[in-house]
Amino acid sequence: MTDFDYDLFVIGGGSGGVRAARVAAATGAKVALAEEYRMGGTCVIRGCVPKKLMVFASEYRDMFADARAYGWDVADGAFDWSRFRVKLHEELDRLEGVYRRILDGSGVEIFDSRAALADTHTVKLADGSTKSAKHILVATGGRPQLPEIKGAELGITSNDIFLLDALPKSILIVGGGYIACEFACILHGLGVAVTQFYRGAQILRGFDDEARGLVSEEMQQRGIDLHLGTNVLELEKRDGGIWVKATNGTETTFDHVMFATGRAPNTNGMGLAKAGVDLGRQGQIVVDDFSQTNVASIYAIGDVTNRVQLTPVAIREAMAFVETVFHGNPTKVDHSLIPSAIFTQPEMGTVGLSEEAARDIEPVEIYCTSFKPMQQAFAGRSDRVLMKLVVSKATRTVLGCHIVSPHAGEMIQLAGIAIKMGATKEDFDRTVAVHPTISEELVTMREPVRTA
Ligand code: NDP
Repeated sequence: MTDFDYDLFVIGGGSGGVRAARVAAATGAKVALAEEYRMGGTCVIRGCVPKKLMVFASEYRDMFADARAYGWDVADGAFDWSRFRVKLHEELDRLEGVYRRILDGSGVEIFDSRAALADTHTVKLADGSTKSAKHILVATGGRPQLPEIKGAELGITSNDIFLLDALPKSILIVGGGYIACEFACILHGLGVAVTQFYRGAQILRGFDDEARGLVSEEMQQRGIDLHLGTNVLELEKRDGGIWVKATNGTETTFDHVMFATGRAPNTNGMGLAKAGVDLGRQGQIVVDDFSQTNVASIYAIGDVTNRVQLTPVAIREAMAFVETVFHGNPTKVDHSLIPSAIFTQPEMGTVGLSEEAARDIEPVEIYCTSFKPMQQAFAGRSDRVLMKLVVSKATRTVLGCHIVSPHAGEMIQLAGIAIKMGATKEDFDRTVAVHPTISEELVTMREPVRTA
């Protein structure tokens, strides 16, 4: 018999929190979960899911043109944001319901309330009531972060984009990471005039240079007005829009400015100091390999720990937490070789080391090919794709795989299995090609383009 109200109290109903609550409850534990907003968190409500649906919507523009090249009699239509938005939010409501039913069905008690730590074993809800728990799991995620510049509050973030009443005619997107690049492509595809400012030399810092270079080139070729080495100095409300003064000397008015300048962990006002939980320099909860904080009864998973900000990683961390705490089997999360995709147009899929990172570690061979894919070339488009393998000279292991191509996200998921298994270049070579496909190039590159 436990002296606590619950065996586990989870704060945050996003991908990580919901998974941990559900799986812990399945072990027979008494579990509660508090969520202050909508069940599903960033991924379901204002991230991956609505974003991907907007990617799909935006891709139809090129498809109409391509269909004509393939002999179809198709006229260009206009995109109706209001119609799409209604359907989008119906889908999000449906998914939220699914999450709620999963928790209910698992016997997890739900509190639709903000919750904060009162001490090492106690959670305080917004109505002032307190609940005690043997273990507390903080899975509160993160939020978009605005830069400290004059007028930054006039900008919107990815949280707001799904709620717009109307699509703007023009938008400035600030940033060069996943979110900035994905929304630049989405909004361009939906017919918005997109300008993007990135302060560095090339977008998607940290990814393979050749791959991000091609994404950048293709984005510009499609009509995104990308300014590298450029940042915003100040914003003002003027002429019914947002006036922007930039570091490149330009002054322009846009309908909207969207900041995609990184995300901060949701640790403010969480009572973490009161409970004695250590925070890192970015405000993230510091945890060990088992997601345990410096306070033995308090664990944290997902974006609030600022390890790898990806839904499937938060889910892995949730599973490892339950295995460790509720099955008595201490389990570390393996954060190595995580495949990921950036849903730009063209998409980029990546797993393992970039060429630049790998050659800092050991001598490597680079296998790379770039070409016009059949489907788009036939339609008269000049789009290029890229397939690249970074191979260890000493062990022949494939250290990294980088794909820029339609459906690169789907491709990298599968290539990721081979690479996670430690496949060598020769393992790729002895795999028969699937013809005609784009990804067959991954198993047909015979000679390295360079060694480094
Ligand atoms: P990122 O950290 O990826 O990118 C932030 C961008 O903003 C960088 O280009 C950064 O520049 C720039 N920046 C930061 N501060 C400033 C500033 N003060 N002024 C101007 N520019 C600035 O964050 P995102 O918000 O794009 O995404 C957050 C996380 O969400 C990602 O790391 C990713 O893990 C996850 N995500 C994953 C997706 C997917 O899997 N497809 C999709 C969307 C998000 P610099 O490079 O110079 O630091």
